[in-house]
Amino acid sequence: MSDLNHTATAGFESRFGQSPAGLWSAPGRVNLIGEHTDYNDGFVFPFAIDRRTVVALGLRTDRLIRVASSFAEDTVELSLDDLTPENLGGWSAYPLGVAWALGQFGADLAVVPGFEVFIDSDVPIGAGLSSSAAIESAVAVALTDVWELELDRPMLARVGQLAENRAVGAPTGIMDQSASLLGRADAAVFLDCRSLDAELIPLGFDAAGLELLIIDTRVSHAHSTGGYASRRASCENGARLMGVSSLRDLDVNDLARAGELLDDETFRRVRHVITENQRVLDTVRTLREEGPTAIGALLDASHVSMRDDFEISVPELDLAVEVARASGAIGARMTGGGFGGAAIALTPHALVPVVSAAVTSAFAARGFGAPDLFVVRAADGAAREQA
Ligand code: ADP
Ligand code: MG
Repeated sequence: MSDLNHTATAGFESRFGQSPAGLWSAPGRVNLIGEHTDYNDGFVFPFAIDRRTVVALGLRTDRLIRVASSFAEDTVELSLDDLTPENLGGWSAYPLGVAWALGQFGADLAVVPGFEVFIDSDVPIGAGLSSSAAIESAVAVALTDVWELELDRPMLARVGQLAENRAVGAPTGIMDQSASLLGRADAAVFLDCRSLDAELIPLGFDAAGLELLIIDTRVSHAHSTGGYASRRASCENGARLMGVSSLRDLDVNDLARAGELLDDETFRRVRHVITENQRVLDTVRTLREEGPTAIGALLDASHVSMRDDFEISVPELDLAVEVARASGAIGARMTGGGFGGAAIALTPHALVPVVSAAVTSAFAARGFGAPDLFVVRAADGAAREQA
């Protein structure tokens, strides 16, 4: 049994005084390319990572739900009869919100039995690797099994999104849950955020001797809420002025007209989204035709676009990307919503220690706090674990 399965089982036993009926898990994710394209109905290209959240679960004979996590001291209790978004808050809004959202997708919450869960995880929380989708997806697959629901993975992604939007109150898209539920080892999920069509594309990093290095700057998302909202508003405004329902309907051939029609700032926001959608398509094509060693320039161009056009980078992310490239990465970019968080650097296996050391010492030289560096591999999505 893996360490996490062990600790989740032990945690369940100590909180609830019996063994769990089973273990389910779901991974965090990293977005390889396609940033701020999701809410513009565009393309994203994330993959599930080898960091997971494990849920140990047991059914009850009454209507009570009890949730506990290695991350929190408290055990939260609620009756299924009181399960509404208004009654939820704090960390337990994630697992309880998923139970509620399953009801919105057809589970008959008036008749299902209560349950107990203990949650353990090695997905870093708040580092942009979506510990939130990991917990949502793990709970979603666990409850789908024990409540014997007929919901497929794309539907469960919408369940997780609904829980996050309504129970937690975060206006997030569907990328994270899709990656966590649909991911496969050594593949990324090419997701069309308009049709929700998802296709697994082999990455071939291992065969090419490449690693994806995460550089978590540990800079917190100080302006992230306001920054995110204002970028969304710019995109909506740009689409309206260009006469389309979303920026997805524009492509690089529309850039000249956008330049004439839009003010400078709105134009640059729009240009990021248009070119980023194109870079996702180019990345998928390049992986198929040439392999992963050829995608470096697309990652680099994505970073420049986020730094200069979308203006969501910070000095720590720019330094991480610049030094990673100068010390051997074949491509690097900030990943996630911006204003802090992590960068990724596609790096030849043998150069991972070199790049890591170079980034760490560059941060020290600039007086920045020490970054956290680690490698992630593309892993399988949510699954029942062997007990
Ligand atoms: P990210 O998804 O980037 O890690 P979020 O702010 O979206 O960051 O989600 C983090 C929140 O999700 C945590 O603050 C906590 O409320 C909840 N969460 C994530 N993982 C766990 C866990 N293992 N146990 C309890 N709560 C968790
Ligand atoms: Mg999250």
